[in-house]
Amino acid sequence: MPGPAALCSGCGVRRASLRRPRSGEALCRECFVAAFEAEAHVGIASARLFESGETVAIAASGGKDSTVLAHLLRVLNERHGYGLRLLLLSVDEGIAGYRDESLAAVRRNQARLGLPLHVVSYQQLYGWSMDCIARHLGPRNHCTFCGVFRRQALDRGAAFVGADKIATGHNADDVAETVLMNFLRGDVGRLRRCTEILTGSEGTLPRCKPLKHAYEKEIVLYAYFQGLDYFSTECIYAPNAYRGHARNLLKDLEATRSSTVADLVHSGERLAIREDVRMPIQGTCQRCGYLCSQPLCKACVLLEGLNRGLPRLGIGKPSYLQKALLVCEKKAEVSLQQEEGARQRSQDPNTIDF
Ligand code: SF4
Ligand code: ZN
Repeated sequence: MPGPAALCSGCGVRRASLRRPRSGEALCRECFVAAFEAEAHVGIASARLFESGETVAIAASGGKDSTVLAHLLRVLNERHGYGLRLLLLSVDEGIAGYRDESLAAVRRNQARLGLPLHVVSYQQLYGWSMDCIARHLGPRNHCTFCGVFRRQALDRGAAFVGADKIATGHNADDVAETVLMNFLRGDVGRLRRCTEILTGSEGTLPRCKPLKHAYEKEIVLYAYFQGLDYFSTECIYAPNAYRGHARNLLKDLEATRSSTVADLVHSGERLAIREDVRMPIQGTCQRCGYLCSQPLCKACVLLEGLNRGLPRLGIGKPSYLQKALLVCEKKAEVSLQQEEGARQRSQDPNTIDF
């Protein structure tokens, strides 16, 4: 916090009420809000995130990032004449005590912003809620399922409402965490893509991150100054997530070096992947038609495991998943043939059962 009598370095008139985490500037509330909105607009305009006439589905979870994003896009759309048709798109994973309450926050925001809302649920799309998956899965890997299912759910929901683009609330801290996580896991494919502000060149519905350059602390300040209503309780399965370890590591690093978030994002952007590193070739899932680099997309493999009572089948490297699934399919085929053989033998009067 700035000293008691410090004046805002923006207007030089009002008393400063905060020191910006991003730059250390002492600003009053009005100048901070104006700077935050102006920077978001510059980010959107310079990366050409939107084109006039587009329908943009804002992925709305009810948390601070997506609540700020929805508010901000509505303000900037009007102020700068972006010409966008905005709507809210939420995913109901089926997590009691968490998603039902955060969806209530989305509905309150929908009423305040006057934007249409569409909700897609895991139960509807996959026949499984996250709570039900967790009961079958045991104490770990919830986010592996949830992340894969949510990605597809958003794409399917956006296609249903005729959206041209999905805007997500990922901020600079999220991007830095993802760089760290992909680096630690050796996931070169995702490491290459995770810092991009606009994705979709591989044929999927384009997704953009208008808050990519905004720090989490500033998003919280902006939400506070604008009096935004959001849900801030963590998901009950989050403590088991690998992302949580990356987040803690990032916070520790940030305590000793304040520019860690920006540095990591910068490193991710500048990282060059060697030309001879083989990248996955995109095709479509043989079962559901979703874009993927294996015969079956990961959601179909995970779902197959759940439906067969083998929920861990889809956890691991893609090549192992596919092999495991093929072995299962082979076994099922053999057992079907055996059943059919037994049925024919029982109908054959010349067959004697011992
Ligand atoms: Fe889903 Fe994991 Fe996020 Fe919970 S923490 S909503 S399980 S991805
Ligand atoms: Zn599929």
